[in-house]
Amino acid sequence: MANYYQPEIETMPYDQLRQLQNERLVKQVRHVWDNVPYYRKKMEEKGLTPEDIQSVDDLHKLPFLTKADLRDAYPYGLMGKPKSECVRIHSTSGTTGKRVMAFYTQHDIDLWEDCCARAIVAAGGTKEDVLHVSYGYGLFTGGMGLHGGGHKVGCLTLPMSSGNTDRQLQFMEDLGSTILCCTPSYAAYLAESIHERGLQDKIHLKAGIFGAEAWSEDMRRDIENKLGIKAYDIFGLTELSGPGVSFECEEQTGMHINEDHFIAEIIDPDTGEVLPEGTKGELVFTSLTKEAFPLLRYRTRDICVLSRKKCSCGRTFVKMAKPMGRSDDMLIIRGVNVFPSQIETVLMQQGYAANYQIIVDRVNNSDTFEVMVEMTPDMFSDSLAKVARAEKELVGALKSMLGIAAKVKLVAPKSITRSEGKAVRVIDKRKI
Ligand SMILES: [Zn+2]
Repeated sequence: MANYYQPEIETMPYDQLRQLQNERLVKQVRHVWDNVPYYRKKMEEKGLTPEDIQSVDDLHKLPFLTKADLRDAYPYGLMGKPKSECVRIHSTSGTTGKRVMAFYTQHDIDLWEDCCARAIVAAGGTKEDVLHVSYGYGLFTGGMGLHGGGHKVGCLTLPMSSGNTDRQLQFMEDLGSTILCCTPSYAAYLAESIHERGLQDKIHLKAGIFGAEAWSEDMRRDIENKLGIKAYDIFGLTELSGPGVSFECEEQTGMHINEDHFIAEIIDPDTGEVLPEGTKGELVFTSLTKEAFPLLRYRTRDICVLSRKKCSCGRTFVKMAKPMGRSDDMLIIRGVNVFPSQIETVLMQQGYAANYQIIVDRVNNSDTFEVMVEMTPDMFSDSLAKVARAEKELVGALKSMLGIAAKVKLVAPKSITRSEGKAVRVIDKRKI
């Protein structure tokens, strides 16, 4: 196997791709109708039968699925295959409610790993690479997904999982890891640790594939500079298999969606109406090939834009911009929409690392909004007056980005608890 790049698919002309999607959609709707009574009922409520869906042009007729449906149908209600034909379960962390359970046949696993393999190849991966997978293994899809993709590409795959930074760095140095896969916050943490220990010359990473949480362009540049690598974004949802639904190529201007397996739509989150390409709205996915968990028109809550502008890499798959935030992550503070990613952007612009925590509470019917930020190591020895000045500057910068005032507290470096999987950025005490 020379390479997992699949140009016959990934650079397919649009009309051919559309034809492939039409065929797969018709088949998938029939599969769901026959095997998922929960969704069949939703179709029946709209007076639909599978015959009403003849091509992608009819997609908009189908009912949406939401997180609430996943909760209602928990755990097995949206399964498209009998348990005896499924081979694996993954699950979300359940931080925003009940866990989502997703199921896979062996065929589903194969296709998912193909998608991850494409992402690794797009990041420059070949069978010569040592793929250092520091996503969590287990229920979380990150570890197993990139791991499977690594095998397909033929990389020497290292299932590190997250945590134990000393061991991560030791293995990276001893084994000559060349591609790092983990969450961006963990990549930033590893980069910081490499610098502190003066290991830059001993680490030979060339690329990173980072996803599973929101990160800004500034954070990308920071990680790239610190590690001397190219950092690629990858996107996915457990509900749709995991990482690899879309991935970045060398152009780094959005993530190509694996359109032979997924149809993406952008809708108005309030009306559900499909919006034209290039308009900002909520991302909706239809899985075309998944057997065990075949979601149709699943609303992701991610706010984003699609673009079919020609890409220099030659891939014809539509590109999605980095999601501007999940409507789930969005905080409403004093009536204003605040995304943690906006705060991160301000911090990076002001020269801070993305180590922060947002604390929101309600006192006397009014929201309090505090951002704790770790000082840079050189600031730590500064006078109190200097620190106070820095806090004041951050207050101003945040106010101009968000439109509301936050209290800022600079704290000692490394004093904010880091989770080595997904970062806990927000503590919303109004919900407790
Ligand atoms: Zn491209």
